Amino acid sequence: KPAIGVLALQGGVAEHLTALERSGADARPVRRPEELAAVHGLVLPGGESTTMTRLLESFELFDPLRERLAAGMPAYGSCAGMVLLAASVLDDRAEQDVPPVKPLGALDVVVRRNAFGRQVDSFEADLDFAGITGGPVHAVFIRAPWVDKIGADVEVLATVTPGGTGVTPAAGRIVAVQQGPVLATAFHPELVSGDERVHRYFVQTVRAS
Ligand code: GLN
Repeated sequence: KPAIGVLALQGGVAEHLTALERSGADARPVRRPEELAAVHGLVLPGGESTTMTRLLESFELFDPLRERLAAGMPAYGSCAGMVLLAASVLDDRAEQDVPPVKPLGALDVVVRRNAFGRQVDSFEADLDFAGITGGPVHAVFIRAPWVDKIGADVEVLATVTPGGTGVTPAAGRIVAVQQGPVLATAFHPELVSGDERVHRYFVQTVRAS
C-alpha cells in the first residue's frame, strides 16, 4: 500500500483520509517534516490558502514540501490545495490584513482564488473528467478557484460543462489539471462520499511513480 499523507494543518483533512483509505492507500495526517519525509505522496486539502501559507511556514513545512515537490513527489490539491500548488496566484478580492498566498510552484499554472464570485460562491456540477471512466464526476465547488492559464506541460482534466444539473456558471473554465504526478481540482471530491474515483486516480498516480 502506498503511504499517502494529508496535509493536516487546517481544512478538510478527515474526508480525504477516509477517501484515500477506501482507495487502497495507507493514509496518514502530515503535520511535521518527519511525517512528510515518510510518505510517497501528499494531498493538500481545501480550507483557506492564506491561512495554510502561514501555517506551512510556522510548522516549518514550506521549504521541505517545496523541495519534495521539486524532486517529483506526487501531490493532489483540492480547492485551496490547488491554489497552494500553483506557480502563481491571482486574487481579485484579497481580504484586508490577510497575508498573500505564497504558492509552492509545483504546477505550471496561474490560479485565480475565489474566482467564481460571490453570486455563485458555492455550486455543484457534473463534469467529464479525463482519465476517469464510469460517468461524470459530481463536483462540489466552495469559494473555489479556477485555472486562468496553463503551461505547455499541463494537461486539462476537466472544465465546467455548460448545461447539466445545477448551476453551471463560467462554463469552459478549467477546474482540474495534471502535470506529471501532480494533480489539482478546484472542487471537493472528498465531500461526495461513495465516489472515490478521483482519489483512486491519485493513488494510481502514486503507485505508478
Ligand atoms: N477560497 C479558499 C482559498 O482560496 C478556498 C476554499 C476552499 O478550499 N473550499 O483559500
